[in-house]
Amino acid sequence: MIIKRSKKMERQILDKIKTYLNRAPRSLDKWHVSDILYPRKSVLGRRDPQPMTDLQALYFIAGRAHHGVLEAALGKWDKKLQKERADAGEFEKHGIYYSPDLRQPWPWEIKTSRAEYEPKDYEKGYELYLKQLKQYQACMEDDRGGLLVFFLGLRNGHRKLPALRFYKVQLDAKERSKVVKHITATSAEMTKAQKTGDVSKLPLCPKWMCGDCPFFKKCKPWLQDAARKNAQQKEEK
Ligand code: SF4
Repeated sequence: MIIKRSKKMERQILDKIKTYLNRAPRSLDKWHVSDILYPRKSVLGRRDPQPMTDLQALYFIAGRAHHGVLEAALGKWDKKLQKERADAGEFEKHGIYYSPDLRQPWPWEIKTSRAEYEPKDYEKGYELYLKQLKQYQACMEDDRGGLLVFFLGLRNGHRKLPALRFYKVQLDAKERSKVVKHITATSAEMTKAQKTGDVSKLPLCPKWMCGDCPFFKKCKPWLQDAARKNAQQKEEK
């Protein structure tokens, strides 16, 4: 038997995967909930779209596969919804688009996590997941929400085992109205920045994203957070 690694085939496979992942481009006439989570990167990306990198494509494969199984299995949970589409779809509210992973009938967000431990403080540990879910709750005008986290390997003694966690997330009217204000104010600032190219007034994206961000030099995140100055140099070492 002769076994040889084929880099040529790997390249072709990756290119096919990228073509597949780019198949359903999102509407670009308004911001999406996911844009509002990363305002600077979203504005800079709309002004100067970048091709998907190999690494992004590989991350997408893992995430999309888990999502696909969970959405397909859970989308028909409620018999009354079986005739309707229970999965995402693209909807519009408060001047933005939103696509929750599931509507049961309130929004559920599905996440895949590589963390080895479930956070002790849910609000802190799931901050970004909750930011997204709360925007869906605000757009769907429902105080109820569900967060389903699929852990790829939770630490269990000497072993790391896959595990599911589900959390009910209940807001009140005051919290929901705060989220609506955040959506309208941030999307207005983003539209302004998209026209001028000045992103300095927009909130920074999470720090871990700066490491391989193609807009690092344009964005200059270190002007607001000096600790990000060497974010890309550290990655290169
Ligand atoms: S450099 Fe960081 S803050 Fe700036 S757009 Fe990129 S990820 Fe966002």
